[in-house]
Amino acid sequence: MGTDPLSAVLAGRRAFLVDLDGVIYEGARAIDGAREFFHHLRAHRMPFHLITNNSTRTAADVALHLQRMDMPVSESDVLTSPEATAIHVEQRCGHGACIFVIGEDGLVRTLIAHGFTLTTEPDRADAVVCGLDRRLTYDRLRRACMALRRGAPLIATNPDRALPTESGFLPGNGATLAYLEAATGVKPLVIGKPSPTMLQIAMARMRSTVAETVMIGDGIETDILAGARASVGTILVLSGVTREADVANASATPGAVVESIATVWQRLIGGHS
Ligand SMILES: [Mg+2]
Repeated sequence: MGTDPLSAVLAGRRAFLVDLDGVIYEGARAIDGAREFFHHLRAHRMPFHLITNNSTRTAADVALHLQRMDMPVSESDVLTSPEATAIHVEQRCGHGACIFVIGEDGLVRTLIAHGFTLTTEPDRADAVVCGLDRRLTYDRLRRACMALRRGAPLIATNPDRALPTESGFLPGNGATLAYLEAATGVKPLVIGKPSPTMLQIAMARMRSTVAETVMIGDGIETDILAGARASVGTILVLSGVTREADVANASATPGAVVESIATVWQRLIGGHS
């Protein structure tokens, strides 16, 4: 192996944190090299975790989507922002706390599965948990604001202001958080990337140290910034939202910049031959 940036980042790393969209698939299409990458990790018993800010799907939904693309991924390899949020709220507010939730099915089901009681009464809420909700109404926003004014903390699954879709950028959860903050002055505590919280929860599950772990992502202001904040190695792939020209002016500097996950897989094979 040479001493180029990719070899340097991979040296001593045995655990992988991997973003989904733009790294291993684009919509329903798997990105070349992603299947081989996961089959390689499985064959060599190298732990990995898929880390996604998407709050509308559960870990089981994500695992099924990947299994259909022939990727050997199970539910326990996936950490969604709702799952990480539930773990955080449990530590902060206690088991079975009363939660006012803005969010879709994935978030609601995850909170229920963790044993929280959901409420629509602002007076009863121990916390307001906010994820993307594409059916959000004024009544729900009004009630959330009332709970926040009564002192409930605002805990956000992810801060993404705009949501890339096939029909362009749509308002994301960050836009809802901006609305709530404008109305109440309450600042959210964000769990998803670029906060390092999700990565730290995933490392605890994999029992890996920061020196053993590397984050692979396509978002320099999300994945790579979260990786830098968590002090793990970082690899930026150019198969998603970030262009090479964006790297110089970004908030974080990736350890290595590569074309796609195929480059990482090829290097791993080289390392084992
Ligand atoms: Mg991505």
